[in-house]
Amino acid sequence: MQLRLILGDQLNAAHSWYRERRDDVVYVLMETRSEAGYVRHHAQKVLALFAAMRGFADALQAAGHRVHYLRIGDAANRHDFAANLAWLAAHYGASSLACQQADERRVDALLAALPQQLGLPLQQVDSEHFYTTRDEAARLFGSKGWRMETFYRRMRQQHGVLLDAAGKPAGGQWNYDAANREPYRGEVALVPWPFAAHDLRALWQEIVEAGVQTLGEPQADALPWPLTRREARAWLADFIQQRLRHFGRYQDALVHGEVWLFHSGLSFALNTKMLSPHEVVQAAEAAWRSDPTLPLASVEGFIRQILGWREYVRGVYWARPDFGSVNALQHRRPLPRWFWDGDTGMACVAQAVRGSLQHAYAHHIQRLMVTGNIALLLGCDPDEVDAWYLGIYIDAFEWVEQPNTRGMSQWADGGFMASKPYVSGGAYLSRMGDHCAHCRYAVKQKTGPAACPFNSLYWHFLARHEAVLAANPRLAMPYASWRKMDEGARQALLAQAEAYLQDVDSL
Ligand SMILES: Cc1cc2nc3c(=O)[nH]c(=O)nc-3n(C[C@H](O)[C@H](O)[C@H](O)COP(=O)(O)OP(=O)(O)OC[C@H]3O[C@@H](n4cnc5c(N)ncnc54)[C@H](O)[C@@H]3O)c2cc1C
Ligand code: SF4
Repeated sequence: MQLRLILGDQLNAAHSWYRERRDDVVYVLMETRSEAGYVRHHAQKVLALFAAMRGFADALQAAGHRVHYLRIGDAANRHDFAANLAWLAAHYGASSLACQQADERRVDALLAALPQQLGLPLQQVDSEHFYTTRDEAARLFGSKGWRMETFYRRMRQQHGVLLDAAGKPAGGQWNYDAANREPYRGEVALVPWPFAAHDLRALWQEIVEAGVQTLGEPQADALPWPLTRREARAWLADFIQQRLRHFGRYQDALVHGEVWLFHSGLSFALNTKMLSPHEVVQAAEAAWRSDPTLPLASVEGFIRQILGWREYVRGVYWARPDFGSVNALQHRRPLPRWFWDGDTGMACVAQAVRGSLQHAYAHHIQRLMVTGNIALLLGCDPDEVDAWYLGIYIDAFEWVEQPNTRGMSQWADGGFMASKPYVSGGAYLSRMGDHCAHCRYAVKQKTGPAACPFNSLYWHFLARHEAVLAANPRLAMPYASWRKMDEGARQALLAQAEAYLQDVDSL
């Protein structure tokens, strides 16, 4: 008898494990307090994961597989992989264990310890999900600069994605990012996402009774996220038909009062492996090939996120086991209180945080240029920023969250991923959206009680990190502007920023 462990983010129905039904195999899924509590997760994330796991187990059983499912409230649940597997092994008389390769180092270490803890051999197989192996990007780059664009072009060629008959990039360019930076001014109507309304109140009760501490709104009476492969496929189809067309153009847009825009919302389904990246990329490319009105810039922009960014950050994660503790800028400030309630006068930040608490979701530019930007400008401790991002989003799993947070957003890796820190003053945020019209601060003011905090904090950031950043060619322009300013203006900006930094909770 073999016990096969399926982790909560391994809901890949197409895995070769399930091609044959075997009486000598029992699939094991478990909801544990240890996994639900290693960081404070958003309530919707815990609900969605457990509900999706339960649905997956039911589908396996319906297909004739033997399944043992441990619920969070089961008396027999020891809430620990090893302890649960030990009694299940004894119960079923198992002579071996098998698992799919984990995506996180923490879980990888737990799995690696099992043979010794249980005295049983463990067979690890591929999760059959990603385009790349863990070390593929590391083999490509070695010690050379890890640039996503290099990696992405290689992926396009290697997997024959968006190429013409001569093997050149479709349309003549690899990257249409320059066409993908428009603000949204209502030119085309927004299309509602295909939200579900899962009644998970009973499950929520179990989670609460088990003492799992969460954050954010559970929305347990009508959880909107796709929880089965069938639903995830329907979301993908809906995105391709309704929103892909405008995805690229408005990818970086910020809109007051609007959470979803033309994004796909597929990250939870992808990261739990209900959808494969291959099928998502293929669906987008097939749509473009069959519909000449679909803008290539949009399709390429979308495919780049999945075939490029998603695989690239996986490569970074496995290449840099030290990423969980990097802090190149030596930032030590605790996260301001309003990261936990959204109660700040900065309208752009308030919307990003409140939306995250309400929906367990924010789109990329909110994560990078709003919450990430303000955390970096304030000098927040990357450990705290990391834990916040890991907890709050429905799609947050360490392998993808950590490089995005520490590397892309907080520059805590000293430039391993991003050639310059993603910081901006209010002008960028004002250009990309309309929050400023609803804000208690004035985006054009740099000093004074109503001055947009992003403005002075931006210059303060550059000034205080001059020794590290001034030699960066991509920051030559802002440093030149800083030096050109007269001393009085510089001092006024620094004094304004200092005043804000004295009392960040009041911003
Ligand atoms: C600070 C920070 C933290 C982030 N944390 C996570 C995280 O925990 N989990 C996560 O999946 N993404 C994370 N991202 C990347 C990105 O913001 C989300 O993937 C995206 O917002 C999810 O929404 P969507 O499915 O509507 O994406 P879309 O905008 O529709 O994009 C399509 C898909 O592309 C992929 N993708 C896009 N950008 C990235 C990226 N930078 N890295 C990896 N994949 C990408 C996702 O799978 C996404 O579903 C983070 C980004 C930042 C700046
Ligand atoms: S004024 Fe500044 S803080 Fe307010 S919404 Fe605009 S950028 Fe954000």
